[in-house]
Amino acid sequence: MMVECINGCGGMAATHYEGVEIDVCGCCSGVWLDFGELTQIVEIRGAAWSENVVEKVLTSLGGKGVPVKERERELTCRVCNNALPPSNYQSNSGIIVNACPDGHGVWLDAGELEKLQIFMERWQDIAARDADKHQHLLRQIEVDYADKKSKGLREGPAYFEVINIFINRVISLME
Ligand SMILES: [Zn+2]
Ligand SMILES: [Zn+2]
Repeated sequence: MMVECINGCGGMAATHYEGVEIDVCGCCSGVWLDFGELTQIVEIRGAAWSENVVEKVLTSLGGKGVPVKERERELTCRVCNNALPPSNYQSNSGIIVNACPDGHGVWLDAGELEKLQIFMERWQDIAARDADKHQHLLRQIEVDYADKKSKGLREGPAYFEVINIFINRVISLME
């Protein structure tokens, strides 16, 4: 069954990616990930990137906030039809993701899934190599998370699930 692309173009087809079935648009190459699928993909680390690709992605990353053109888009959740607010992944990755506030899933534009994976993998590698140096940042992530939770801010469970896994992994590397 073809599902309409929420980016307003063609139909989306189920595709196997690192063992996870995800929906990819044949027209804009955007990706819809159901709740939990991003976590699975980040956990798997199945893809091997060439150094060129990694270099290119890492130099393109960074930057706070969400650009105006991203805020003006009107993407809606495939499940609940509510708006998918854009957010800057991990607050300063520069990767803008659109996650359902009720955690149904996340929309990624073409190339963003790859960027997310490279960003997370690099982070994990750096944390593993130089754990002491990153304890401060790790604590900051935990404080930010606790703060967001206490204020009842919702950014979607999938978003926090990934951060939690990330935190747990870094903690286990430090032990
Ligand atoms: Zn599309
Ligand atoms: Zn939704």
